[in-house]
Amino acid sequence: METKYNNDRKMKLVLISPKGPLYRKSGGIFKKSLRYQPLTLTTLAALTPKELPIEITLIDEGIMEIPADLQADLIGITAITGTAIRAYELADQFRAKGIKVLLGGPHITLMPEEAAEHADAICIGYADQTWPQLIYDFFADKLQAVYKQGECFDLTDTTLPFPERERFDSKYFLTQAVFEATRSCGHDCEFCVAPTAWGRKQYQHPVSWVVEDIRQFVAKTGKRKLIFVDLNLVSDLEYAKELFTALIPLKIQWFGLSTVLIAHNNELMELMAKSGCKGLLLGLETVTTGSLGDAGKKFNSSVNYKELIATLHKLGISIQGCFVFGLDHDTLDTFDATVELAIDAAIDLPRFSVLTPFPGTPLYKRLEQEKRILTKDWSLYDAQHVVFEPKLMTVQQLSEGHERAWKKIYQYKNIFKRLWGARNFQPLALTANFGYRFYAHNLHKFYTCDWPIERNPSKIILQSK
Ligand code: SF4
Repeated sequence: METKYNNDRKMKLVLISPKGPLYRKSGGIFKKSLRYQPLTLTTLAALTPKELPIEITLIDEGIMEIPADLQADLIGITAITGTAIRAYELADQFRAKGIKVLLGGPHITLMPEEAAEHADAICIGYADQTWPQLIYDFFADKLQAVYKQGECFDLTDTTLPFPERERFDSKYFLTQAVFEATRSCGHDCEFCVAPTAWGRKQYQHPVSWVVEDIRQFVAKTGKRKLIFVDLNLVSDLEYAKELFTALIPLKIQWFGLSTVLIAHNNELMELMAKSGCKGLLLGLETVTTGSLGDAGKKFNSSVNYKELIATLHKLGISIQGCFVFGLDHDTLDTFDATVELAIDAAIDLPRFSVLTPFPGTPLYKRLEQEKRILTKDWSLYDAQHVVFEPKLMTVQQLSEGHERAWKKIYQYKNIFKRLWGARNFQPLALTANFGYRFYAHNLHKFYTCDWPIERNPSKIILQSK
Protein backbone atom coordinates (compact mmCIF):
# COMPACT_ATOMS: atom_id res chain seq x y z
CA MET A 1 0.00 0.00 0.00
CA GLU A 2 1.33 3.47 -0.97
CA THR A 3 1.52 5.55 2.18
CA LYS A 4 3.51 8.42 3.62
CA TYR A 5 3.80 6.69 6.99
CA ASN A 6 6.63 4.38 8.04
CA ASN A 7 8.46 3.42 11.22
CA ASP A 8 10.30 6.77 11.28
CA ARG A 9 7.13 8.73 10.63
CA LYS A 10 4.33 6.82 12.25
CA MET A 11 0.71 7.80 11.77
CA LYS A 12 -0.52 9.57 14.91
CA LEU A 13 -3.94 8.29 15.89
CA VAL A 14 -5.64 9.98 18.84
CA LEU A 15 -8.84 8.57 20.34
CA ILE A 16 -10.83 10.87 22.60
CA SER A 17 -13.71 10.38 25.00
CA PRO A 18 -14.95 13.95 25.61
CA LYS A 19 -16.81 14.97 28.74
CA GLY A 20 -19.42 17.61 29.51
CA PRO A 21 -18.62 20.21 32.19
CA LEU A 22 -20.13 18.08 34.97
CA TYR A 23 -17.74 15.19 34.41
CA ARG A 24 -14.60 16.87 33.07
CA LYS A 25 -11.30 16.57 34.94
CA SER A 26 -11.02 20.32 35.47
CA GLY A 27 -13.95 21.66 37.41
CA GLY A 28 -15.98 18.46 37.13
CA ILE A 29 -17.87 16.87 39.99
CA PHE A 30 -16.93 13.20 39.78
CA LYS A 31 -14.07 12.07 41.98
CA LYS A 32 -11.76 9.16 41.30
CA SER A 33 -13.79 7.02 43.69
CA LEU A 34 -16.62 6.97 41.15
CA ARG A 35 -14.77 6.58 37.86
CA TYR A 36 -14.01 3.39 36.07
CA GLN A 37 -11.98 3.04 32.92
CA PRO A 38 -13.97 3.42 29.69
CA LEU A 39 -13.85 0.41 27.39
CA THR A 40 -14.53 2.00 23.99
CA LEU A 41 -11.12 3.58 23.48
CA THR A 42 -9.14 0.56 24.67
CA THR A 43 -11.25 -1.69 22.43
CA LEU A 44 -10.63 0.51 19.37
CA ALA A 45 -6.91 0.63 20.16
CA ALA A 46 -6.87 -3.16 20.20
CA LEU A 47 -8.72 -3.35 16.87
CA THR A 48 -6.24 -1.00 15.13
CA PRO A 49 -4.19 -3.09 12.65
CA LYS A 50 -0.86 -3.94 14.25
CA GLU A 51 1.06 -4.31 11.00
CA LEU A 52 0.67 -0.60 10.20
CA PRO A 53 3.06 2.03 11.63
CA ILE A 54 0.69 3.76 14.06
CA GLU A 55 1.27 5.58 17.33
CA ILE A 56 -1.90 5.55 19.42
CA THR A 57 -2.82 8.05 22.14
CA LEU A 58 -5.94 7.68 24.27
CA ILE A 59 -7.51 10.67 26.01
CA ASP A 60 -10.37 10.43 28.49
CA GLU A 61 -11.35 14.00 29.30
CA GLY A 62 -12.70 12.79 32.63
CA ILE A 63 -9.16 12.19 33.84
CA MET A 64 -6.92 14.36 31.69
CA GLU A 65 -6.78 17.58 29.71
CA ILE A 66 -6.50 17.62 25.93
CA PRO A 67 -3.07 19.17 25.20
CA ALA A 68 -3.39 22.52 23.40
CA ASP A 69 -0.63 21.47 20.99
CA LEU A 70 -2.00 17.99 20.32
CA GLN A 71 -0.28 16.48 17.25
CA ALA A 72 -2.38 14.03 15.23
CA ASP A 73 -3.04 12.76 11.73
CA LEU A 74 -6.39 11.27 12.60
CA ILE A 75 -8.59 11.91 15.63
CA GLY A 76 -11.47 9.63 16.57
CA ILE A 77 -14.04 10.99 19.04
CA THR A 78 -16.77 8.91 20.64
CA ALA A 79 -19.86 10.69 21.93
CA ILE A 80 -23.02 10.06 23.89
CA THR A 81 -25.74 12.72 23.66
CA GLY A 82 -24.55 14.60 26.76
CA THR A 83 -21.04 14.96 25.28
CA ALA A 84 -22.06 15.57 21.66
CA ILE A 85 -21.71 19.37 21.81
CA ARG A 86 -18.25 19.05 23.32
CA ALA A 87 -17.35 16.44 20.67
CA TYR A 88 -18.48 18.78 17.87
CA GLU A 89 -16.60 21.71 19.40
CA LEU A 90 -13.37 19.65 19.53
CA ALA A 91 -13.96 18.21 16.06
CA ASP A 92 -14.43 21.69 14.57
CA GLN A 93 -11.24 22.93 16.25
CA PHE A 94 -9.16 19.99 15.02
CA ARG A 95 -10.53 20.18 11.49
CA ALA A 96 -9.73 23.90 11.38
CA LYS A 97 -6.11 22.84 11.98
CA GLY A 98 -6.26 20.43 9.03
CA ILE A 99 -6.54 17.23 11.12
CA LYS A 100 -8.96 14.57 9.88
CA VAL A 101 -11.69 13.77 12.40
CA LEU A 102 -14.03 10.84 12.69
CA LEU A 103 -16.97 10.66 15.03
CA GLY A 104 -18.69 7.59 16.45
CA GLY A 105 -20.63 6.34 19.45
CA PRO A 106 -24.29 6.23 20.51
CA HIS A 107 -25.16 9.86 19.68
CA ILE A 108 -23.60 9.67 16.23
CA THR A 109 -25.56 6.46 15.61
CA LEU A 110 -28.76 8.26 16.64
CA MET A 111 -28.04 11.52 14.77
CA PRO A 112 -25.74 10.70 11.83
CA GLU A 113 -26.71 13.66 9.65
CA GLU A 114 -26.06 16.17 12.39
CA ALA A 115 -22.71 14.54 13.25
CA ALA A 116 -21.56 14.38 9.62
CA GLU A 117 -21.42 18.19 9.54
CA HIS A 118 -18.56 18.08 12.04
CA ALA A 119 -16.53 15.14 10.73
CA ASP A 120 -14.56 13.79 7.81
CA ALA A 121 -16.05 10.37 8.54
CA ILE A 122 -18.66 8.96 10.89
CA CYS A 123 -19.11 5.46 12.32
CA ILE A 124 -22.72 4.36 12.68
CA GLY A 125 -23.39 1.49 15.07
CA TYR A 126 -20.71 -0.76 16.53
CA ALA A 127 -17.32 -0.21 14.89
CA ASP A 128 -15.60 -3.52 15.71
CA GLN A 129 -15.84 -4.83 12.17
CA THR A 130 -15.52 -1.54 10.26
CA TRP A 131 -12.62 -0.09 12.27
CA PRO A 132 -9.70 -1.97 10.66
CA GLN A 133 -11.02 -1.10 7.16
CA LEU A 134 -11.41 2.54 8.18
CA ILE A 135 -7.76 2.65 9.25
CA TYR A 136 -6.59 0.97 6.01
CA ASP A 137 -8.67 3.48 4.02
CA PHE A 138 -7.06 6.36 5.88
CA PHE A 139 -3.61 5.00 5.10
CA ALA A 140 -4.55 4.74 1.42
CA ASP A 141 -5.95 8.29 1.52
CA LYS A 142 -9.39 6.88 0.72
CA LEU A 143 -11.32 7.66 3.89
CA GLN A 144 -15.04 7.24 3.24
CA ALA A 145 -17.68 9.53 4.70
CA VAL A 146 -19.67 6.80 6.46
CA TYR A 147 -18.76 3.47 8.06
CA LYS A 148 -21.86 1.58 9.06
CA GLN A 149 -22.27 -1.51 11.20
CA GLY A 150 -23.03 -4.34 8.74
CA GLU A 151 -26.20 -6.45 8.69
CA CYS A 152 -24.17 -9.50 9.70
CA PHE A 153 -22.49 -7.83 12.67
CA ASP A 154 -21.77 -10.10 15.58
CA LEU A 155 -19.15 -10.64 18.26
CA THR A 156 -18.74 -14.38 17.86
CA ASP A 157 -15.23 -14.20 16.38
CA THR A 158 -12.98 -15.80 18.99
CA THR A 159 -9.95 -14.10 17.44
CA LEU A 160 -11.19 -10.58 18.28
CA PRO A 161 -8.41 -8.89 20.29
CA PHE A 162 -8.93 -8.09 23.97
CA PRO A 163 -9.16 -4.40 24.96
CA GLU A 164 -5.73 -2.85 25.60
CA ARG A 165 -6.55 -1.65 29.12
CA GLU A 166 -2.92 -1.01 30.01
CA ARG A 167 -2.86 1.96 27.62
CA PHE A 168 -4.43 4.00 30.42
CA ASP A 169 -2.65 4.57 33.72
CA SER A 170 -4.73 2.63 36.25
CA LYS A 171 -4.04 5.15 39.02
CA TYR A 172 -6.67 7.54 37.67
CA PHE A 173 -9.55 5.12 38.01
CA LEU A 174 -11.47 3.36 40.71
CA THR A 175 -10.80 0.32 38.56
CA GLN A 176 -9.22 -0.63 35.27
CA ALA A 177 -10.84 -4.06 35.39
CA VAL A 178 -13.71 -3.28 33.03
CA PHE A 179 -15.09 -6.11 30.91
CA GLU A 180 -17.95 -6.88 28.59
CA ALA A 181 -19.53 -10.13 27.52
CA THR A 182 -22.54 -8.80 25.61
CA ARG A 183 -23.93 -5.66 23.97
CA SER A 184 -27.45 -4.28 23.71
CA CYS A 185 -30.52 -5.77 25.36
CA GLY A 186 -33.64 -7.69 24.42
CA HIS A 187 -36.08 -5.19 25.99
CA ASP A 188 -37.40 -1.94 24.54
CA CYS A 189 -37.90 0.55 27.37
CA GLU A 190 -39.25 3.80 25.98
CA PHE A 191 -36.41 6.00 27.24
CA CYS A 192 -33.50 3.68 26.49
CA VAL A 193 -30.97 4.45 23.77
CA ALA A 194 -29.92 0.82 23.28
CA PRO A 195 -32.88 -0.61 21.32
CA THR A 196 -33.06 2.52 19.13
CA ALA A 197 -29.34 2.66 18.37
CA TRP A 198 -28.52 -1.04 18.11
CA GLY A 199 -31.80 -2.94 17.95
CA ARG A 200 -33.15 -5.57 20.33
CA LYS A 201 -30.78 -8.34 19.38
CA GLN A 202 -28.21 -8.97 22.04
CA TYR A 203 -24.68 -9.49 20.68
CA GLN A 204 -22.57 -11.94 22.65
CA HIS A 205 -18.88 -12.69 22.83
CA PRO A 206 -18.24 -16.42 23.11
CA VAL A 207 -18.05 -17.29 26.82
CA SER A 208 -14.58 -18.78 26.23
CA TRP A 209 -13.42 -15.37 24.88
CA VAL A 210 -14.70 -13.54 27.96
CA VAL A 211 -13.10 -16.05 30.30
CA GLU A 212 -9.75 -15.79 28.51
CA ASP A 213 -9.87 -11.97 28.64
CA ILE A 214 -10.40 -12.12 32.41
CA ARG A 215 -7.84 -14.88 32.91
CA GLN A 216 -5.13 -12.87 31.11
CA PHE A 217 -6.03 -9.70 33.04
CA VAL A 218 -5.82 -11.53 36.39
CA ALA A 219 -2.50 -13.12 35.38
CA LYS A 220 -1.07 -9.69 34.41
CA THR A 221 -2.38 -7.60 37.29
CA GLY A 222 -3.22 -10.02 40.09
CA LYS A 223 -6.54 -8.17 40.46
CA ARG A 224 -9.67 -10.25 40.88
CA LYS A 225 -12.38 -7.59 41.30
CA LEU A 226 -14.00 -6.52 38.08
CA ILE A 227 -16.92 -4.72 36.50
CA PHE A 228 -19.07 -5.96 33.63
CA VAL A 229 -20.46 -2.96 31.75
CA ASP A 230 -23.02 -5.02 29.80
CA LEU A 231 -26.39 -3.27 29.73
CA ASN A 232 -28.22 -6.38 30.82
CA LEU A 233 -26.21 -9.48 31.66
CA VAL A 234 -29.32 -11.64 31.98
CA SER A 235 -31.06 -10.66 28.74
CA ASP A 236 -30.47 -14.20 27.42
CA LEU A 237 -30.86 -16.66 30.30
CA GLU A 238 -29.03 -19.54 28.62
CA TYR A 239 -26.03 -17.35 27.84
CA ALA A 240 -26.07 -15.89 31.35
CA LYS A 241 -26.04 -19.36 32.92
CA GLU A 242 -23.19 -20.49 30.68
CA LEU A 243 -21.20 -17.35 31.52
CA PHE A 244 -21.76 -17.51 35.29
CA THR A 245 -20.87 -21.20 35.38
CA ALA A 246 -17.64 -20.51 33.48
CA LEU A 247 -16.71 -17.69 35.88
CA ILE A 248 -16.79 -19.91 38.99
CA PRO A 249 -13.30 -21.44 38.59
CA LEU A 250 -11.77 -17.95 38.08
CA LYS A 251 -12.50 -17.07 41.72
CA ILE A 252 -13.20 -13.44 40.90
CA GLN A 253 -15.58 -10.90 42.41
CA TRP A 254 -17.66 -8.98 39.91
CA PHE A 255 -20.20 -6.18 39.63
CA GLY A 256 -22.67 -5.85 36.77
CA LEU A 257 -26.09 -4.78 35.49
CA SER A 258 -29.30 -6.76 35.43
CA THR A 259 -33.03 -6.30 35.21
CA VAL A 260 -35.19 -7.09 38.23
CA LEU A 261 -36.53 -10.11 36.33
CA ILE A 262 -33.86 -12.22 38.04
CA ALA A 263 -36.32 -12.20 40.95
CA HIS A 264 -38.21 -14.98 39.14
CA ASN A 265 -35.19 -17.23 38.86
CA ASN A 266 -33.69 -18.35 42.16
CA GLU A 267 -31.34 -20.77 40.46
CA LEU A 268 -29.86 -17.93 38.38
CA MET A 269 -29.44 -15.67 41.41
CA GLU A 270 -27.64 -18.45 43.29
CA LEU A 271 -25.43 -19.15 40.29
CA MET A 272 -24.65 -15.45 40.01
CA ALA A 273 -23.56 -15.35 43.65
CA LYS A 274 -21.51 -18.52 43.23
CA SER A 275 -19.75 -17.02 40.20
CA GLY A 276 -18.53 -14.12 42.34
CA CYS A 277 -21.23 -11.49 41.88
CA LYS A 278 -20.87 -8.96 44.69
CA GLY A 279 -22.91 -6.09 43.32
CA LEU A 280 -25.71 -5.50 40.85
CA LEU A 281 -27.05 -2.33 39.29
CA LEU A 282 -30.81 -2.71 38.98
CA GLY A 283 -33.06 -0.39 36.98
CA LEU A 284 -35.83 -0.04 39.57
CA GLU A 285 -36.95 3.18 37.82
CA THR A 286 -39.98 4.22 39.88
CA VAL A 287 -42.22 3.62 42.86
CA THR A 288 -45.16 5.50 41.33
CA THR A 289 -48.17 3.50 40.22
CA GLY A 290 -48.58 3.91 36.48
CA SER A 291 -45.07 5.22 35.83
CA LEU A 292 -43.66 1.82 34.87
CA GLY A 293 -46.15 1.76 32.02
CA ASP A 294 -44.98 5.27 31.02
CA ALA A 295 -41.44 3.93 30.78
CA GLY A 296 -42.44 0.90 28.72
CA LYS A 297 -41.09 -1.16 31.59
CA LYS A 298 -44.21 -2.88 32.87
CA PHE A 299 -42.23 -6.07 33.37
CA ASN A 300 -40.78 -4.51 36.54
CA SER A 301 -44.23 -4.53 38.13
CA SER A 302 -44.11 -8.33 38.45
CA VAL A 303 -41.38 -7.95 41.08
CA ASN A 304 -41.51 -6.98 44.75
CA TYR A 305 -38.40 -4.80 45.01
CA LYS A 306 -37.98 -5.20 48.75
CA GLU A 307 -38.12 -8.99 48.60
CA LEU A 308 -35.73 -9.13 45.65
CA ILE A 309 -33.20 -6.88 47.37
CA ALA A 310 -33.44 -8.89 50.61
CA THR A 311 -32.80 -12.12 48.65
CA LEU A 312 -29.79 -10.61 46.90
CA HIS A 313 -28.42 -9.29 50.18
CA LYS A 314 -28.68 -12.78 51.67
CA LEU A 315 -26.62 -14.02 48.74
CA GLY A 316 -23.96 -11.39 49.52
CA ILE A 317 -24.86 -9.15 46.58
CA SER A 318 -25.00 -5.36 47.09
CA ILE A 319 -27.44 -3.24 45.14
CA GLN A 320 -27.04 -0.03 43.20
CA GLY A 321 -30.70 0.87 42.70
CA CYS A 322 -31.42 3.36 39.90
CA PHE A 323 -34.55 5.49 39.82
CA VAL A 324 -35.73 8.03 37.30
CA PHE A 325 -37.84 11.11 38.11
CA GLY A 326 -40.20 12.89 35.74
CA LEU A 327 -42.31 10.05 34.35
CA ASP A 328 -45.83 11.07 33.42
CA HIS A 329 -47.49 9.67 36.57
CA ASP A 330 -44.85 11.17 38.90
CA THR A 331 -46.13 13.79 41.34
CA LEU A 332 -44.50 15.90 44.03
CA ASP A 333 -44.91 12.93 46.40
CA THR A 334 -42.74 10.73 44.22
CA PHE A 335 -39.43 12.11 45.52
CA ASP A 336 -40.02 11.31 49.19
CA ALA A 337 -41.72 8.01 48.39
CA THR A 338 -38.65 6.94 46.40
CA VAL A 339 -36.26 7.95 49.18
CA GLU A 340 -38.38 6.02 51.69
CA LEU A 341 -38.36 2.88 49.56
CA ALA A 342 -34.60 3.14 49.10
CA ILE A 343 -34.10 3.35 52.87
CA ASP A 344 -36.71 0.73 53.68
CA ALA A 345 -35.32 -1.75 51.17
CA ALA A 346 -31.77 -0.98 52.39
CA ILE A 347 -30.46 -0.20 48.93
CA ASP A 348 -26.69 -0.02 49.28
CA LEU A 349 -26.19 2.72 46.69
CA PRO A 350 -29.28 4.52 45.36
CA ARG A 351 -28.94 6.64 42.24
CA PHE A 352 -31.46 9.14 40.91
CA SER A 353 -31.69 10.67 37.46
CA VAL A 354 -34.01 12.96 35.62
CA LEU A 355 -35.92 11.35 32.76
CA THR A 356 -34.05 12.26 29.58
CA PRO A 357 -35.55 11.92 26.10
CA PHE A 358 -32.45 11.01 24.11
CA PRO A 359 -32.94 11.89 20.45
CA GLY A 360 -34.34 9.13 18.28
CA THR A 361 -35.83 7.17 21.18
CA PRO A 362 -39.60 6.52 21.30
CA LEU A 363 -39.74 8.82 24.34
CA TYR A 364 -38.19 11.68 22.40
CA LYS A 365 -40.57 11.15 19.49
CA ARG A 366 -43.59 11.11 21.81
CA LEU A 367 -42.57 14.22 23.73
CA GLU A 368 -41.74 16.03 20.51
CA GLN A 369 -45.17 15.15 19.16
CA GLU A 370 -46.70 16.47 22.38
CA LYS A 371 -44.52 19.62 22.01
CA ARG A 372 -42.90 19.04 25.39
CA ILE A 373 -39.22 19.12 24.37
CA LEU A 374 -37.82 22.35 25.83
CA THR A 375 -34.33 22.43 24.38
CA LYS A 376 -32.16 20.64 21.88
CA ASP A 377 -28.96 21.70 23.59
CA TRP A 378 -27.55 18.17 23.86
CA SER A 379 -25.07 19.18 26.55
CA LEU A 380 -28.04 19.30 28.92
CA TYR A 381 -29.07 15.74 28.04
CA ASP A 382 -27.03 14.28 30.90
CA ALA A 383 -29.86 12.81 33.01
CA GLN A 384 -29.33 15.54 35.61
CA HIS A 385 -30.99 18.48 33.83
CA VAL A 386 -34.67 18.79 32.93
CA VAL A 387 -35.00 19.18 29.17
CA PHE A 388 -38.73 18.53 28.73
CA GLU A 389 -41.97 19.69 30.23
CA PRO A 390 -43.09 17.23 32.92
CA LYS A 391 -46.76 16.32 33.11
CA LEU A 392 -47.74 16.69 36.78
CA MET A 393 -45.16 19.20 38.02
CA THR A 394 -43.14 22.12 36.76
CA VAL A 395 -39.61 21.98 35.43
CA GLN A 396 -38.39 23.71 38.58
CA GLN A 397 -40.21 21.26 40.84
CA LEU A 398 -38.73 18.30 39.03
CA SER A 399 -35.24 19.71 39.19
CA GLU A 400 -35.47 20.68 42.85
CA GLY A 401 -37.20 17.45 43.87
CA HIS A 402 -34.45 15.43 42.19
CA GLU A 403 -31.74 17.39 43.95
CA ARG A 404 -33.54 17.16 47.31
CA ALA A 405 -33.87 13.39 46.94
CA TRP A 406 -30.13 13.06 46.32
CA LYS A 407 -29.31 15.10 49.41
CA LYS A 408 -31.77 13.26 51.60
CA ILE A 409 -30.76 9.75 50.66
CA TYR A 410 -27.09 10.63 51.28
CA GLN A 411 -27.60 12.19 54.71
CA TYR A 412 -25.24 10.41 57.11
CA LYS A 413 -28.13 8.91 59.06
CA ASN A 414 -29.67 7.51 55.90
CA ILE A 415 -26.38 6.10 54.64
CA PHE A 416 -26.06 4.35 58.00
CA LYS A 417 -29.66 3.08 57.98
CA ARG A 418 -29.34 1.63 54.50
CA LEU A 419 -25.97 -0.03 54.98
CA TRP A 420 -26.98 -1.36 58.40
CA GLY A 421 -30.21 -2.71 56.94
CA ALA A 422 -28.32 -4.38 54.09
CA ARG A 423 -26.18 -6.35 56.61
CA ASN A 424 -23.85 -6.86 53.72
CA PHE A 425 -21.07 -4.53 54.57
CA GLN A 426 -18.37 -4.03 51.97
CA PRO A 427 -15.72 -1.28 52.30
CA LEU A 428 -16.42 -0.24 48.70
CA ALA A 429 -20.06 0.46 49.58
CA LEU A 430 -18.98 3.02 52.18
CA THR A 431 -16.49 4.68 49.82
CA ALA A 432 -19.10 4.84 47.06
CA ASN A 433 -21.71 6.27 49.47
CA PHE A 434 -19.34 9.04 50.50
CA GLY A 435 -18.53 9.67 46.84
CA TYR A 436 -22.25 10.00 46.06
CA ARG A 437 -22.78 12.18 49.13
CA PHE A 438 -20.20 14.60 47.73
CA TYR A 439 -21.96 14.45 44.37
CA ALA A 440 -25.36 15.13 45.98
CA HIS A 441 -24.09 18.16 47.84
CA ASN A 442 -22.31 19.70 44.87
CA LEU A 443 -24.83 19.08 42.14
CA HIS A 444 -26.39 22.54 42.46
CA LYS A 445 -23.11 24.27 41.65
CA PHE A 446 -23.21 22.77 38.20
CA TYR A 447 -26.76 23.87 37.52
CA THR A 448 -25.91 27.53 37.80
CA CYS A 449 -23.20 27.59 35.14
CA ASP A 450 -24.91 26.13 32.12
CA TRP A 451 -28.54 25.56 32.82
CA PRO A 452 -30.73 27.66 30.56
CA ILE A 453 -34.18 26.41 31.51
CA GLU A 454 -36.24 28.68 33.72
CA ARG A 455 -33.19 30.22 35.39
CA ASN A 456 -32.52 31.95 32.11
CA PRO A 457 -35.79 31.76 30.17
CA SER A 458 -34.44 33.75 27.24
CA LYS A 459 -32.34 30.74 26.25
CA ILE A 460 -35.20 28.26 26.07
CA ILE A 461 -35.78 26.88 22.61
CA LEU A 462 -39.47 26.18 22.95
CA GLN A 463 -41.36 24.57 20.14
CA SER A 464 -44.35 26.53 18.95
CA LYS A 465 -47.45 25.18 20.67
S1 SF4 B 1 -33.85 -3.23 30.28
FE1 SF4 B 1 -32.30 -1.64 30.54
S2 SF4 B 1 -30.88 -1.86 28.82
FE2 SF4 B 1 -32.72 -3.03 28.34
S3 SF4 B 1 -33.96 -1.63 27.11
FE3 SF4 B 1 -34.63 -1.42 29.24
S4 SF4 B 1 -33.40 0.28 30.09
FE4 SF4 B 1 -32.42 -0.41 28.17
